[in-house]
Amino acid sequence: MISKKMVGLVQGSSVIRAMFEEGKALAEKYGAENVYDFSLGNPNVPAPKAVAEAMIDILTKEDPLYVHGYMSNAGFPEVRKAVAESLNQRFATDFSSDNVVMTVGAASGLNVIFKTLLDPGDEVITFAPYFGEYRNYVANYDGRLIEVSPNTVDFQPKLSELSEKITEKTKAVLINSPNNPTGVVYSEETLKKMADILEAKQKEFSSSIYLVTDEPYRELVYGDVEVPFVTKYYRNTIVGYSFSKSLSLPGERIGYLVIPSKIDDYEDIFAAAGVATRILGYVNAPSLQQLTIARCLSESTDLSYYERNRNELYNGLTGSGFTCQRPDGAFYLFMKTPIEDDVEFCNDAKKYNILIVPGSTFGCAGYTRIAYCVAYETIVNALPKFRQLAEDYGL
Ligand code: PLP
Repeated sequence: MISKKMVGLVQGSSVIRAMFEEGKALAEKYGAENVYDFSLGNPNVPAPKAVAEAMIDILTKEDPLYVHGYMSNAGFPEVRKAVAESLNQRFATDFSSDNVVMTVGAASGLNVIFKTLLDPGDEVITFAPYFGEYRNYVANYDGRLIEVSPNTVDFQPKLSELSEKITEKTKAVLINSPNNPTGVVYSEETLKKMADILEAKQKEFSSSIYLVTDEPYRELVYGDVEVPFVTKYYRNTIVGYSFSKSLSLPGERIGYLVIPSKIDDYEDIFAAAGVATRILGYVNAPSLQQLTIARCLSESTDLSYYERNRNELYNGLTGSGFTCQRPDGAFYLFMKTPIEDDVEFCNDAKKYNILIVPGSTFGCAGYTRIAYCVAYETIVNALPKFRQLAEDYGL
């Protein structure tokens, strides 16, 4: 018998993953070229060549006992130093290796920080629409995820509601920009106002409220859009990062947390995060991947590939009459469903072998997420099907 808690988690298990499996089954039945699978955020641009070159170099030239051995739970000190220096150079910060914990992707970074911070019943506030796995990451430590309702005008966070929802139990506010599922980048103005609210509430409740910023898409922005670096706006900020999307390495499981020295209880939190990696069973981030990314911190993915997809998809869908949020970053497009029931709409789309994810999965019914990290041809071939779907709804 599995545990009662796990029964609930399995039942609520990711709709997106289920669709991914469905996509594979449809591809076998109809042929991959006739299935338009926009369900999963699995990068379609190969990792930069430098990644494989670094791995080969490390594996052939470095001491295997060093490459494959255990190290400090927080990661190799020299890798953490390289990460800190790269951030300092790009964002004019002053981090050192003592501010960086290497993690097993963004998912483990968030689990490590919530394990570190949350007592049962503590509240974590997030803004809809949000990555659905946040529910599990907070529930893992018996915390409560509190949702702020979506601002469907421009999908910037609804700050008036944030103020109302902060209580003495609020331990953290969790944000994600560039955002999955909307592709929206939170503006500097938003972050400044959010910081003011959090400062005021910390005073009101004599508490520490940590702003946890989940940033696996930080470099994935188009045109001249800039992603503000959040530690500059609010002192109690903790950053979670991942190389899953920026270097197309989702299966390798590598990322990091930045825990700035100026946050409240820095020393305890940094030490506890190192213990959390171990007792959660990750022990440390994979050693070869740590050494690899340290050599690839200046590498980037081919943004022009995703940008072309974004343009084709956005223009095609709006041209067919759909209402879409134009994404500035990440590789997702958030589209209003022509009927209120987004689950029904996504089921209808399957008639055309189109797989898209209901907005309700992200806490935002009446919308659907379309992941455009796919082959350009998939978008070109899917657009006539989307047009038929639009016509079915009289658009
Ligand atoms: N956070 C967000 C917003 C994501 O979209 C994802 C993955 O899609 C993750 C976290 C998990 O990323 P990782 O593969 O680095 O664990």
